[in-house]
Amino acid sequence: MLLTIDPLEYDVWTALPAYFLEQSPFYVKGVVTTPTAFIEVKGRGIVAEAEVLLVETVTRPEDPYWLIPADDSVSTYSLVDLLQLDFHHPLLRNNLFDSNDTYEVVRQKWSEGYRVPSTKWTRETYEAHLFLESQMAAAPSTTTCTLCHTDLQSQYGPLAHQLLEYHVTGSGRDGIWVCPTCHKAQHYKE
Ligand SMILES: [Zn+2]
Ligand SMILES: [Zn+2]
Repeated sequence: MLLTIDPLEYDVWTALPAYFLEQSPFYVKGVVTTPTAFIEVKGRGIVAEAEVLLVETVTRPEDPYWLIPADDSVSTYSLVDLLQLDFHHPLLRNNLFDSNDTYEVVRQKWSEGYRVPSTKWTRETYEAHLFLESQMAAAPSTTTCTLCHTDLQSQYGPLAHQLLEYHVTGSGRDGIWVCPTCHKAQHYKE
């Protein structure tokens, strides 16, 4: 189920976004028996789901993102095509999966957590939160962020009124006016 990449041996943080955007397949050491593979960054967690196109037992394939020189040893490599990539996924941030999880469990956690900023959310509660906030987003009474105290008016003038966002903090509609960056940070917080 897992193909593990050591970030000290392969520049995963640069390579994966590049290959994802180009939709180019690339080789990862290892082999899986499941319908798709999850790419794990060693010590961090799962960052991507990939389709395995081909498995080859060869010397290390050419790739500009290797950080260490190749020797001439032969290993099994999977040629993978990224289906989804997310460096901020809860499975990365909190190592939510454990080695006893089955492929089905990891797949469910991966797809439910996708695009949710932290483990305090499910897809449903996060979408409901954003919906509620969009309902409250009429004209803000202030141009100053409640959290970082920046007055956006000094940078953006009258436009500042359109930039402040409403963040619901309680169970009802109680909330605070915040700048977009602080709002994003609040959603990421556990
Ligand atoms: Zn702020
Ligand atoms: Zn919010």
